[in-house]
This record gives sequence, structure tokens and C-alpha cells, in this order.
Amino acid sequence: MRVLKEHEEKGLDDIARDAARPVDFDAAEATCPACGTTFPTSSARCPDCGLNFGG
Ligand SMILES: [Zn+2]
Repeated sequence: MRVLKEHEEKGLDDIARDAARPVDFDAAEATCPACGTTFPTSSARCPDCGLNFGG
């Protein structure tokens, strides 16, 4: 169980790190840190999960 728990915690850390990384709106496309969807930066909102990047 301990190994499994460590794996889960590492996964959460990776997700949190990705979520903390600002989306590069200078690029033509950005990757949503929440769901991983790639979307054009003409939209400030992820078309898949609806995460709003504020713009
Ligand atoms: Zn998303």
C-alpha cells in the first residue's frame, strides 16, 4: 500500500506542478494543465473542461 500511496502522491505533485505553470499564450496553441487538451490560444478557456485562464 505504501508504494501505491507514494505513486499517487507523486502523480498529484506532477499535476499541481503542471497546473502552476502558466499557459503560454504567445504560442499558437496551449495545453490545458487540468485535462491536457491542446487548444488555440485565441480562446482563454479550455474547450474541453472549461478551465478559464483569465486572459
Ligand atoms: Zn481543460
